[in-house]
Amino acid sequence: MDTLRASAEVDLDALAHNLDRVRQRAGNARRLMLVAKADAYGLGAVAIAHHALRCGVSAIGVGTSFEALELLRGGVRAPILVLGTVVEEELLACLRNAVHIGLHSADRRASLQELARSLGLIAHVHLNVDTGMGRLGVPPERALELLDEVHASSHLRLAGVMSHVSSPDGGLDPATALQKARFDRFLEAARRRPCPTGWVHFANSAALFTGVEGDYDTVRTGIAAYGALPSHLPGARELLPVLSLRSQVVFLKDIPAGTPVGYGSHWRAPRPTRIATLSIGYDDGVPWRLGDQGEVLLRGRRAPLVGRVSMDYTTVDVGDIDGVQVGDAATLIGADGEQRISIEEVAERAGTIPYEVMCSVGKRVGRVYVGGEDLPRAPARRPPADPVQGPEPAERPENATAARTEPRPRARP
Ligand SMILES: *Cc1c(COP(=O)(O)O)cnc(C)c1O
Repeated sequence: MDTLRASAEVDLDALAHNLDRVRQRAGNARRLMLVAKADAYGLGAVAIAHHALRCGVSAIGVGTSFEALELLRGGVRAPILVLGTVVEEELLACLRNAVHIGLHSADRRASLQELARSLGLIAHVHLNVDTGMGRLGVPPERALELLDEVHASSHLRLAGVMSHVSSPDGGLDPATALQKARFDRFLEAARRRPCPTGWVHFANSAALFTGVEGDYDTVRTGIAAYGALPSHLPGARELLPVLSLRSQVVFLKDIPAGTPVGYGSHWRAPRPTRIATLSIGYDDGVPWRLGDQGEVLLRGRRAPLVGRVSMDYTTVDVGDIDGVQVGDAATLIGADGEQRISIEEVAERAGTIPYEVMCSVGKRVGRVYVGGEDLPRAPARRPPADPVQGPEPAERPENATAARTEPRPRARP
């Protein structure tokens, strides 16, 4: 069996399916920006971005300038936006590589203009209006003023205007309507200006799947594309999970009742049983808090995780499962036969959120890309003509992606 010590299986067909659902929610005329920060929530940003672009995504959102540069080095040719901001020291690299930057303050406008002018380059900025997130972004009452300042800056180009929804419940939370009303008021005034606003983007996954509408031309989506939208949000069931986290049994041991297992002797066998040790630990993405709380799939059945999760290993009570052998695949997230453990289940048991579970999958876990052989059907309508000059390629690197996202055979346990 082709099971690695620990592997993150990434289903590119599920990604394509989810992007299709996102596009339907967003309306065909809309532009999709795939949010691929934190290495695409742990899935591998370069491979994910390439496949998403093949599926018709128009732009990629990232968290840091280094992430943007990694995508560029990986051959990703599409506008890339650093969604939040970058520290002063990283501005130069952004400008040189035409990476778009969120503009969150008047001071930053001034320093960007100065730097861009001295380099003879144009800085592409997306004006971030803080409509209620309370983090980065200018308050709406200052935003118009800043917009005018951007338009008056010789070396700045307004590539977009944006705001970010704070509620994880999106449109189910009245606070979101308030945010949207503030954004709309700003937008109305901005559109009366002679200069174009560039892309207009507001909705994230939760907003999109709770019917937050608006005449915005771009949506930003991360968690929905990766199939881990919380299940209480309408439409979450349309999505397919992209990530499976698997490991294997590396050791089996029969123990008498009362035997302690793991750090701190936290757990003691209540009966004679068999303990399977899995070659995956908290460094690999098994939340430490899952100790004594979690379950694992082995031979299509659920087995309780017992004792503390350690850095490299996890222990499971397999006393109730016949025939477990060293080398058996163990599924910590994903499906095995009829059974499935969702990211949401893991997050709930560990007292955290699906986002954190996803991006905690460790560096040393092999990413295995499955599917992606068939291009999904093309979007019914072309997205609107792109008013923004990003680092556009001469041609779409359709074939250039093959080397990086080389589909591997499906390795199912
Ligand atoms: C992370 C992020 C998103 C994506 O959020 P999801 O909930 O994963 O869709 C969108 N916009 C901004 C500014 C972000 O930081």
